[in-house]
Amino acid sequence: MSDTALVLRSTRVVTPQGTRAASVAVNDGTIDAVLPYGAAVPAGARLADFGDDALLPGLVDTHVHVNDPGRTEWEGFWTATRAAAAGGITTLVDMPLNSLPPTTTTAHLDAKRAVARGKAHIDVGFWGGAVPGNVKDLRPLHDAGVFGFKCFLSPSGVDEFPEVDQEQLALALGEIAGFGGLLIVHAEDPGHLAAAPAPHGPKYADFLASRPRVSENDAIAGLIGLARRLGARVHVLHLSSGDALPLIAAAKRDGVRITVETCPHFLTLTAEEIPDGATEFKCCPPIREDTNRDALWAGLADGTIDCVVSDHSPSTADLKTADFGAAWGGISSLQLGLPAVWTEARERGHSLDDVVRWMATAPAALVGLDRKGAIEPGRDADFAVLAPEETFTVDPQALQHRNKITAYAGKTLHGVVRSTWLRGRRINDGTTLAEPTGALLERTRRA
Ligand SMILES: [Zn+2]
Repeated sequence: MSDTALVLRSTRVVTPQGTRAASVAVNDGTIDAVLPYGAAVPAGARLADFGDDALLPGLVDTHVHVNDPGRTEWEGFWTATRAAAAGGITTLVDMPLNSLPPTTTTAHLDAKRAVARGKAHIDVGFWGGAVPGNVKDLRPLHDAGVFGFKCFLSPSGVDEFPEVDQEQLALALGEIAGFGGLLIVHAEDPGHLAAAPAPHGPKYADFLASRPRVSENDAIAGLIGLARRLGARVHVLHLSSGDALPLIAAAKRDGVRITVETCPHFLTLTAEEIPDGATEFKCCPPIREDTNRDALWAGLADGTIDCVVSDHSPSTADLKTADFGAAWGGISSLQLGLPAVWTEARERGHSLDDVVRWMATAPAALVGLDRKGAIEPGRDADFAVLAPEETFTVDPQALQHRNKITAYAGKTLHGVVRSTWLRGRRINDGTTLAEPTGALLERTRRA
């Protein structure tokens, strides 16, 4: 028994076999065993008893824009990972764009890792980027440990990360399939976006009309066709259009290798409630109508949607002007994803087991992190302790995000994160965050 031995006890431990009273034995940062609640604590082991607070695996957020280096006034590894730790997240995977440089070559990946080192309060991995002309960089990035490759089918919002056309998409996906990699796609069809009225002015309805559902539906249909033809593995990012769900469900039934994520804002906010000029609600694809939100919840309930991840994409306040055409598109929610989703999930009759599957287990599986995302022996001792019935009102100033802008300001949410644990070490006690001890993760290499 090492001096790092620890037992965590709760009447509500969320495990892959369900929620039950249990004691979780931890040694050297790894879960050793899930024991009966009253199991004796070995001599020399510390006991942390959480009573009726729920013990969850640390969440895994595979969609975070850290923007570091290059746009660190928007966010950075120090602030993003502190916000994540405060929100019960113990692993994040950083998107390849909005930093300068973008993660499109191994030299750029090295630059990202160099700035992240020593600043990561939680474990951090990296996506690579697939852009026009970098097919030759994909295999080296894969070998260097990125978890997969992101591409856009329509303009990304930043000039240094251009979208791919259909020919470039097929080229990149063919290359990625050749080494067993994963392509993650911002799926909005550029033709439909160009044909829609351009976004302008302070009215949310005008912005919504500029990003119609059909652009998502058709882009996803095309992607399914390509994945089917190439036998390739693809993942649809931030699904907003509920109309695409039957298409995706059918593709999954046919054995197409496709997974899908949606985001807290699509599940908890509605177009109807967004005030004019409130561009903290602007993101692409957009938050749609309440009826669409119901469809997304149905997609989660029947398993068509696999994951719920933040798409945390902050900017400085000056870029969030009152004009929906000009304002930066991105919603900041890293610290609030768990309570936001849980608040709506419990209203709709879902359990914490469901939330953990969507926000920890499935995202970990998406990126092949088999030591993350569940409370079971052999996995990292990463935990979030949650008071599920307790409520709080969102105060932007209390957020650890670099820019205190949030679409959730003033909302009362269920679920207070009491503490967060990374490999058996408490990194957030509910008021104070520990010094950074996060690791930079590489995709698990398999024989
Ligand atoms: Zn994003």
